[in-house]
Formats: sequence, structure tokens, C-alpha cells
Amino acid sequence: MAETEIRCGTRAGSQRHRRLAEPVCDPCRLAWNAYMREWKATRNSEARIRRNAERRAKDELSRRYQREYARLVADYLKLVS
Ligand SMILES: [Zn+2]
Repeated sequence: MAETEIRCGTRAGSQRHRRLAEPVCDPCRLAWNAYMREWKATRNSEARIRRNAERRAKDELSRRYQREYARLVADYLKLVS
């Protein structure tokens, strides 16, 4: 996402404030707090554990099949360009 598309009142907005070492504005602080609340509430949920397992499996597959993975990434990049 381009820096200019990052809006205040979003998690990305609060991260941008931190990256730029500037004070986090109220809408961004609230968005960050809501995100953390949600994250803490769901971090050990079955769905999250499953997502993590799937991510790790995909990472492992991309290591085992590096060439095919690179080819697929290149194909998808062509689709969006
Ligand atoms: Zn902000």
C-alpha cells in the first residue's frame, strides 16, 4: 500500500505514526487499541491456530518447490500489472 493511501483511524495509520516517530493521533490510537483487543481475543482461537498452521505449511511448500513457487508469483504479478 502506498504511503499516501494510509488513513488515520486505521491500524496502518497508527503504524505510520510510529514509523515516522510522531505522536499517534486519537483516531489511530483507538484503531490500534481495537485491533489489539481483537487480536488478544482471537489469538488462541481455533481459526487463528489453523491459519497459522496453513501459513507455515505454505511457507514450507514454497521452500520445497522454490522454482514452481517463483514461477507462480511471477504469473500472478503479470495478472495485476
Ligand atoms: Zn493518525
